[in-house]
Amino acid sequence: RGDSACADRKVDSVCPYCGVGCQLTYHVKQDRIVFVEGRNGPSNENRLCVKGRFGFDYPNHPSRLTVPLIRREGVPKGLDPDFDPAKPFSHFRAASWDEALDLAAAGLRRLRDTHGPDALAGFGSAKCSNEEAWLFQKLVRTGFRSNHVDHCTRLCHASSVAALIECIGSGAVTASFMQAQQADVVILTGCNPTVNHPVAATYFKQAAKRGTKLIVLDPRGITMGAYAHRMVRFTPGSDVSLFNAMLNVIVTEQLYDEDYIAAHTEGFEALKAHVAPMTPEAMSPACGVAAEEIRDIARLYAKAERAMIFWGMGISQHTHGTDNARGLISLALATGHIGRPGTGLHPLRGQNNVQGASDAGLIPMVFPDYQPVGNAQIRAAFEELWNTPLHDKPGLTVVEIMHAIHAGTIRGMYIQGENPAMSDPDLAHARGALAMLEHLVVQDLFVTETAQFADVILPASAWAEKDGTVTNTNRQVQMGRAAVPLPGDARPDWWIIQEIARRLGLDWHYTHPRDVFAEMKRGMHSLDHISWERLDAEQSVTYPCPADDAPGLDVVFGDRFPTASGRARFRPTVPLPPDEPIDDAWPTVLITGRQLEHWHTGSMTRRAAVLDALEPAAVATLAPGELARLGLEPGEPLAIETRRGSITLTARTDPLMPEGMVFVPFCYVEAAANMLTNPALDPYGKIPEFKYAACRLSACKSA
Ligand code: SF4
Repeated sequence: RGDSACADRKVDSVCPYCGVGCQLTYHVKQDRIVFVEGRNGPSNENRLCVKGRFGFDYPNHPSRLTVPLIRREGVPKGLDPDFDPAKPFSHFRAASWDEALDLAAAGLRRLRDTHGPDALAGFGSAKCSNEEAWLFQKLVRTGFRSNHVDHCTRLCHASSVAALIECIGSGAVTASFMQAQQADVVILTGCNPTVNHPVAATYFKQAAKRGTKLIVLDPRGITMGAYAHRMVRFTPGSDVSLFNAMLNVIVTEQLYDEDYIAAHTEGFEALKAHVAPMTPEAMSPACGVAAEEIRDIARLYAKAERAMIFWGMGISQHTHGTDNARGLISLALATGHIGRPGTGLHPLRGQNNVQGASDAGLIPMVFPDYQPVGNAQIRAAFEELWNTPLHDKPGLTVVEIMHAIHAGTIRGMYIQGENPAMSDPDLAHARGALAMLEHLVVQDLFVTETAQFADVILPASAWAEKDGTVTNTNRQVQMGRAAVPLPGDARPDWWIIQEIARRLGLDWHYTHPRDVFAEMKRGMHSLDHISWERLDAEQSVTYPCPADDAPGLDVVFGDRFPTASGRARFRPTVPLPPDEPIDDAWPTVLITGRQLEHWHTGSMTRRAAVLDALEPAAVATLAPGELARLGLEPGEPLAIETRRGSITLTARTDPLMPEGMVFVPFCYVEAAANMLTNPALDPYGKIPEFKYAACRLSACKSA
């Protein structure tokens, strides 16, 4: 921590990393951030984790983009091991904004006009503001004239959102994570909050210390298990079997809330019949959990006066991810643990603005506020708002877009702040697709791995350099403020999107993000009673909000659900195996995820000095016994191979890891985890199975 005397001004904003949305203060000296402090925000109460506190200097990294770049003629697209992002002029030349924007837009316009709207697609960013997300999806829908717009929600919680919208009519959480402190029982499943939502984890730990019983359900032991009343480790991929067995106990022992079910739900009789044969004894072999243990945790949850369920990507990133979430929703509905303080359903959202970017419409099948593009009445309302005809066909999702490039359908892309050359499954396929694009425009802070495929690179704004709103996992819309100026010729993202839009023939005249927010309120009822001025004064307002002078609702759906009938729906689920089960040839389960110190593809945190010093190199984590069997010591090189590729990285042991599993973070380009991952999709959420791929391990003495 620095000394406040060394700063010449302070600027209040929000952390740029995870969905917890910690409020913070940037301490700035001579237009550089010198240190960061937590503020008394509703989701952090002055706390910050290591990323929020120390991960602030990446915008000053020597490889920061400060001028627009255009690919030099003859330089092939793709990852060149000799390319140095700090010296991009070997592969790209500097350009003026006018030249770069004209070239970027001309390529997109030519492909649209020659091959039709389906030839173009766009990836927006969950790291950008709500206003930037709104503009980006509007650009694709009105400028590209298609709905081929998506972002990283497709890779994290798309299946959770699909299940929530189907079953309770809303894709957001029903209660904030602070409500855990009022719960008697909390289930944490498929999440690792101390790593991925560290400040939220402090609320869970506090709750446990005050007497809340934590039930941790996960194939992998996690540090939160030390605070748990029950830590239940189950067989990877058997989530649906486990949740159905718990529902069977609740039905068989009549632990369900009959009055709640009668008043607020539909479909319970079908669910009852469906789970009848799925007794704990019947499901125990698949789950690897003793039948009596399943009974105990089902009883604990069902008999609690107030209980909540939190989940993460261990639930969502499966080919049965939507079924996993449906099972959790059924548990809450059957027991009436929803709509009251200390109860609810909470998918812990990943990026700082993945909730807001999804709300703002960076999703191919829905307009903002999850309004289907196929609904004529809704479409007419947006056509009137934007004064242009809109496409009625849902667009393609992230992985589908990569397939469409290989098929020759999609020929051009605009990618803002996303890094599919690192984040997509089966990277050989994804990078092959990016290389095939006839025209690629990338807007980012650095020449990322994706930007190395670009024809034009547009230097954009870091979070601490922009004004804008952002929505965290708790539905809290918060105000972010520019603390430092943009370097060199970099520009605000909203300005760049508008300049591209104008060159595609759109008549846009925004002068500030507040103009965009005003337009958003005309298309998004979720923002009713929330204004830019109010956010500027109050810092944070939760949606939905009932009045201009009322706080937003921390807990929702006490009376009715936002479905056509006002009732929630049970959706029975059938256990299915992973897409690529382990076998004798591929005997180990590979899972991928994040580390405490690094964020997603590492484009920001690997350029933050403290975070990079803490975790400088690619590691794979596995059980000590597993490593010993390979004849390796911690710190020695380990090769991991799947049907799609192989990587070599440093082995690390963790006694909490089960035998037969290896964990690899996906932020290291030198050992890119997604070279290995399986692109098979959940049929509803279209999310890849990042949490289960069959692999084999071997000692590698020459890394
Ligand atoms: Fe930032 Fe999340 Fe850490 Fe809070 S918990 S400081 S939002 S990374």
